[in-house]
This record gives sequence, structure tokens and C-alpha cells, in this order.
Amino acid sequence: MTFRAPVSEYEFLLNNVTGYNEIAATDRFAEAPSDVVSAILNEAGKMCDEVLAPLQRNGDLTPAYLENGVLRTSPGFADGFKAIAEGGWIGMSAPEQYGGMALPLTVATAVNEMMAGACLSLQLAPLMSQGQIEALEHHASDAIKELYLPKLISGEWSGTMNLTEPQAGSDVGALSSKAEPNGDGTYAVTGQKIYISWGDNDFCENICHLVLARLPDGAPGTKGISLFLVPKFLPDADGNPGKANGLKVVSLEHKMGLHGSPTCVMQYDGATGWLVGKEHGGMAAMFTMMNNARLGVGGQGVGAGEGAYQHALAYALERKQGKTASGFIADHADVRRMLMEMKADLFASRAILLACAQAIDLQTATGEKDWAARAAFLTPIAKAFGTDTGIRVSETGVQVHGGMGFIEETGAAQYYRDVRVTAIYEGTNGIQSMDLVARKMMDGGETAFALIDEIEEQAERARATHPNMAESVWQACESLREATEWLVAQEDMQDRFAGSVPYLRAFARVLGGHYHLAAAMADQGGAREKLARFYITRMLPEHASLLAHAQAGAAGTFALSLDELAG
Ligand SMILES: Cc1cc2nc3c(=O)[nH]c(=O)nc-3n(C[C@H](O)[C@H](O)[C@H](O)COP(=O)(O)OP(=O)(O)OC[C@H]3O[C@@H](n4cnc5c(N)ncnc54)[C@H](O)[C@@H]3O)c2cc1C
Repeated sequence: MTFRAPVSEYEFLLNNVTGYNEIAATDRFAEAPSDVVSAILNEAGKMCDEVLAPLQRNGDLTPAYLENGVLRTSPGFADGFKAIAEGGWIGMSAPEQYGGMALPLTVATAVNEMMAGACLSLQLAPLMSQGQIEALEHHASDAIKELYLPKLISGEWSGTMNLTEPQAGSDVGALSSKAEPNGDGTYAVTGQKIYISWGDNDFCENICHLVLARLPDGAPGTKGISLFLVPKFLPDADGNPGKANGLKVVSLEHKMGLHGSPTCVMQYDGATGWLVGKEHGGMAAMFTMMNNARLGVGGQGVGAGEGAYQHALAYALERKQGKTASGFIADHADVRRMLMEMKADLFASRAILLACAQAIDLQTATGEKDWAARAAFLTPIAKAFGTDTGIRVSETGVQVHGGMGFIEETGAAQYYRDVRVTAIYEGTNGIQSMDLVARKMMDGGETAFALIDEIEEQAERARATHPNMAESVWQACESLREATEWLVAQEDMQDRFAGSVPYLRAFARVLGGHYHLAAAMADQGGAREKLARFYITRMLPEHASLLAHAQAGAAGTFALSLDELAG
């Protein structure tokens, strides 16, 4: 099956649905008008189709492995990474002064998603570097920026993020890695980190680890954590990789999927590190990286879903079974339902992803706090809904294949196995949902209500051309408003948390209706209007059951005792 990067889908969304013009109209991004963005997307799409997509199976069939302590990556991955680096795709939104292209994050988000659709396990490598670039840009000293940023951006060096330890997963504050001052401005970092994506590779000269650790006077919990940059090789006087640092890859995890991405257990033994940000201010610095990565992981979900959709569609157009108009299974009503649901959900999740990226760009360009609040609000939705969509779509992709979906040689199962982790890493989707209903609603729901108002305003405008669809979206939005009012009135956080996942999904469903409606207005009589009708009629109603669940409180979830759960 040949992968085709969804360039035209992005062009349509940016120009007709999410309002990219608002970004291009700012001084900050004046050099990225839509025609330039189109040219960039086409160029990136070509690389995805021709260079990255052929590597997708290699990662699964020939995973990365350790050979006498040296990490060997999957066949072709070194060339794939080189192509990404040479195309400038690592530093798309990085500052020009360090070699980046200073493009809007919106563009980077689109390109990242297309790369993920082509080869998810390789795409995770530049995604990690991008997060590190952003964290260093905002929190590192000038000396660190000057040395590291150009090399990370050019892809000569790569970046990782090291939070997780065996006893510190979602609860990052429980970490026990330590950092002791060496007396010369550097620190000795000691501890074990697990699950470190792309903790090593055989195609970059140096691997730069951002490591969370606690200084001797660091308080327990998240407040006492600091962030350190710990390179595999210590830079010499000329900034070239010199002496090996005190760290190693102990082993690689055996995973359900994403085999092309080495997931490393890392051991740091007094490794030399440099403080990034303030002492005990590690979480703030790491959050810069994590927010970027959360959006990026949402894009991984959408991208993998796109790959799975194309794969399933191709199969449905060649497999003959039973009598249908075309002779192929694609013309069975239930197979059509699956294909339509996949396509409609990909559209919705991609639009949410872009809306989130655009809010970040508008925050960067204008400095307005409303855009910052919008971006912060949409980030957990983009992450959780994007990845849930990737999982649902790729699982449906297996179903479209029938028995051949369960047989590895078709490659359908790989999409599902690969994308499954995206709902787990970068903060599980449960943690994202709790963030949405707690921290992101500390404003009493102001940001949520502003968005809800916008959705209803557009629905009002749409009544002239699409009265039925507009009414459905408006009604769904009113239910969302009521549920949000209920939520912010709950003082016992358990009552919010118990329904946070269905609430986030319902919000995403309604946002999906909003963007589909915009597409219908822009493409009257066209395929996008038909897809919007399918989504709004058949998929949007799910919001009602989700919202009922969201407002049921915690008592029911704790109704069974632990003994009764086991009984
Ligand atoms: C392939 C892979 C790659 C990874 N890459 C990296 C990486 O590069 N760098 C890195 O630092 N880490 C990485 N991780 C780690 C990843 O971020 C963690 O697995 C994730 O944060 C969850 O932590 P955990 O596995 O300890 O699960 P746990 O925290 O033990 O969670 C188990 C379950 O409990 C739930 N839960 C936990 N706490 C709460 C709570 N307070 N309220 C409600 N529910 C809760 C979770 O949602 C989950 O369902 C990676 C993991 C994998 C599998």
C-alpha cells in the first residue's frame, strides 16, 4: 500500500476551517502566508511518501537492538532521519538565529502529523528533539543555547526527555534521581530512568538527555525537582563530542509495538550535567517540553490513524466478498460505516489539533492571555482525542481487513500496536482529562465558556444554509455548557475526576461537530459537506451519553468495594 500524506486535507482545513489567515496576518508570521505554507506542506509530503513511508515496516520487522552496548537502529532509519534533518523539518518552528525556520507551530504540527502517518516510530526521534529545542530556547543559558541548539536543529545531535523512573510514572514528584553540584558550575547526575524514547541511536554524533533530578536541598515532591542537560559525550573546547559521559543504555524494553523506536532503560552514574532553568524549577522547564510534546503526540495519533485509514481503504477496494455494486467489500453498508467513521473522526481530530497549534501561535504572535488560555485548554483535548482517534481508527482498520487484519503480514495490526502507546505516554489520557477539568478550569470555566460561545455563534450563522446540522451542533453545545456549569460547581474534585474522560470526549465530539459544520459551509454540495452530515447525524449524538456519564459524580465509580471488585 502506498501512503499519501494528507496535504490537501491540511490545505482545506487551514484555509477554510481553522482560519490560518489570522496567523499569517500577524507580524511575527507574516513570512508564512498560505501559499508558502502550501509549498512547504507539499515538499514535506513528498518526503513522507517517498522516504519515510517505505521505512514503516522495517521498524516493526527489524526492531532496534543492543549489540555489546551499542544501539543499532532499524534498516533505513539512519537515512530517514538524515532526510528529515536535511529538509529542515526538525527545526521548523525553531528560531532562525540557531538555524531554524521560525515557522508557525501550526505548520510544524501538520508536518509532524504527516511524518507520523508515514513512519511513527522514526518520527518520534525528531519529535523528542523538537521538545528539547523548545525547552532549551526558553530556559537554558545563552552558552548552552549557542552550543546545543544549532546541532539539535541540524540533526547532528538528538534530544531525549528523561522523567520516568520505576516508582515515578504519572507521579513525577516521586522521582529519586539525584544531582550534586561539582563545584565548577556542573552537576553530577545519578539515577535510573526507564522508558526513555530514542535514548540512543547510531545516526547522531551526540545524544542530549534532559534529565529531571533532585538537588541535595530539593524538597520532596515536584517542587524540589531540577532539570539537567546531560550529553552522551561531553563537548570538548571546540564544541565537538569529546569524552564519554557517565551514562549508558542498560537495556531496551520489549514492547507491544513501536518497535522501531528504541525505548531505553538509562543509567546515570555521576554523569556531568548542566542546569537548565532555575534550581528546583525543573518542572516549569520540563512543562515547556511536555506541552509541545503533548500536541505532538496528539498529532502522532492522528497521523497513525491516517495511515491506518489509507491502508484499510486500499484493502476494502481490492477485497471481493459477497455481492456488492462494485464487487468489493467497500460497498457493504457496514464496511462503508467503518470507513466513514474513520474519515470523519480523522477530520475532527485533525481540526482540533490545528486549532490548538494556532492558539499557541497566536499567543506567541500577540502575547494575549486569552490565546494562552485557549491553547492550554485545547492541549489536553488535542492530545487525548487525537490519540484515542488514532487507536479507534487503527482498530477499526484491523476490522475492515477481516481475518487479514489479525495476520501480521498485511501491516494493518502494526498501526494499532504502534499507536496504542500514544494514549499512555506524555501523560496518560486519564491524566490529560483530569488536567482539563481541574487546572484548566481554575478560571471558573471562563475559557471553556468562551469556546462554547464561539461554537454557538458559528452554529447560528450556519442556520441559513444548514439548518438541521446547525441545530444539532447548537443543541449539543448547550448540553456541553450545562455539563460545564455542573462541573465547575463541584467542589469535591473526585466528582469532577470520575467523569473527566467522558467530559473530554464529549467536548471533543462537540468541537468535531463545530469544525465539520464549518467544512460543510465551505464546501456546499461537496464531499466535505456529506462527511459533515454523516458526523453530525451519527457521531455527534454520542456526546449525550458521554455528558450523562460526566455528570454522574464519583459515588457510583466507588460503589463497589475493592473486595467486591475482586468478587
Ligand atoms: C513506549 C514508551 C515510551 C515512553 N517514552 C518516555 C520518554 O521518552 N521519557 C519519559 O520520561 N517517559 C517515557 N515513557 C513513560 C510514560 O510517560 C509513562 O509510562 C506514563 O507517564 C505513565 O506512567 P506509568 O507507566 O508509571 O503508569 P502509572 O502512573 O502507574 O499509571 C497506571 C494507571 O493509573 C492511572 N493513574 C496514575 N496516577 C493517577 C492519578 N493521580 N489519577 C488518576 N489516575 C492515575 C494512569 O492513568 C494509568 O491508567 C514512555 C512509556 C512508554 C510505554
